[in-house]
Order: sequence, then structure tokens, then C-alpha cells
Amino acid sequence: MPGKKWTCALCGGEVVEGQRFTFLPGMGAVHVECLNERLLRKGGEAAALAAANEVLLYAIIRLKEAERAAEEGEVRSKIAEVRREVEKAAGSLAQLLSKHV
Ligand SMILES: [Zn+2]
Repeated sequence: MPGKKWTCALCGGEVVEGQRFTFLPGMGAVHVECLNERLLRKGGEAAALAAANEVLLYAIIRLKEAERAAEEGEVRSKIAEVRREVEKAAGSLAQLLSKHV
């Protein structure tokens, strides 16, 4: 996605390279920090969703690192497969998450 610019739907600031961001259905790009701040302030179920989302986003980052570290072949393709499953799970959580923002 080089060259593409997004604006955070929560703070209105630009999403710059290196910042953690995610896409929420019906909202678009948001900084993960802005999202967490908003959800944690609300507390309760919103905070629980923030915690669950954080774990999945972290897992995706670590799996991408592992993919890069693995050699071409069975190990790398299995890690990629698992990473795609976690991405699917994060997408499924994002549906509910955007209702609590
Ligand atoms: Zn933001």
C-alpha cells in the first residue's frame, strides 16, 4: 500500500508509516492507539473487546515476522496459513468492535 494515505476516523490525524492502524467496518482506518484509548475509556465490554483485538493484532505482527524468518517451504507456508486464519478472526472481531467505538 505504498503511497496511499489514510486519515484516522477517530482523531482526524494522518496515519503515517510505522504507526499501528486497523480498519473498522463502516469507519475505515483508525490508529490502534486511538481505538484502544476510546474503548478503554468506555470500559466494560468495550474494554474487553480492545484487549481481545490487541492480542490478535499482536499475533499477526509476530506471525509476519516469523514468516520472514522462515525459509521458503512447508514451515513458512504453514505460518502464513495460520496468519491468514488470525487475520480472519481479527476481521470477525472488528465487526463487533466498530459497534462499541
Ligand atoms: Zn488517531
